[in-house]
Amino acid sequence: MTNSLRWKRILLKLSGEALMGSQAFGIDPAIVQRIAKEIADAVALGAQVGVVVGGGNIFRGVAVAAKGGNRVTGDHMGMLATIMNSLTLADALRRLKVNARVLSAVAVPSICETFSQRVADRYMEDGDVIVFAGGTGNPFFTTDSGAALRAAEMKCDAFLKGTQVDGVYSEDPKVNPEAERYETLGYEEVISRNLKVMDTTAIALARDNSIPVIVFSIHSPGALVSVLQETGTYTVVG
Ligand code: UDP
Repeated sequence: MTNSLRWKRILLKLSGEALMGSQAFGIDPAIVQRIAKEIADAVALGAQVGVVVGGGNIFRGVAVAAKGGNRVTGDHMGMLATIMNSLTLADALRRLKVNARVLSAVAVPSICETFSQRVADRYMEDGDVIVFAGGTGNPFFTTDSGAALRAAEMKCDAFLKGTQVDGVYSEDPKVNPEAERYETLGYEEVISRNLKVMDTTAIALARDNSIPVIVFSIHSPGALVSVLQETGTYTVVG
């Protein structure tokens, strides 16, 4: 079964907003459970999965800075938000009998393990799902960059960016239904044309480590497995 997967060890990046559902803020448990099922199905096929969830559904540091507050404190709060999201996703995975572990870049040892590359690598080899929390552990970064960093450290075969749409389009497909979906794009093209795949630091890290970035919709059921089995629609940046 494993051989049928195009990418075996993957880093899945989801924005915090993916956990919100139709709410304006926070976490919709039903959505979290549905996403956990997507991951569990991929694990059942032999995928080794690391996940990074953002924190934008709860808190973003720039929001503090925009109101004249301390950006570093705001970013610390944002990183704590990613830990909350990671804890709930790991719980949802455990409900599906998947061994899930939260490894945080920010040490909160009474709540979850602290990230270490060697330990994470061992867990992934064992088939445990690792939810990497706390971003990079540093302010002024994003969870996209944290996810690209983990993908490089864990030698992932691919970085899967779950978004609202099933790839990168020439224009916003909600505005122009005629917009073209790219099958493939180069890293440089994404950077030079400022295509909104993820921030430049994250794309550059993926490029420098030759990790393909797969942009797909996390909202269509079965999407994660269909990307891994090359039956879905998505854009490959590489
Ligand atoms: N953050 C940070 N350093 C990191 C990752 C995240 O300071 O390495 C903070 C930052 O304030 C950010 C917030 O955590 O706004 C939530 O992360 P992000 O905006 O990337 O979440 P997403 O947009 O993916 O939900």
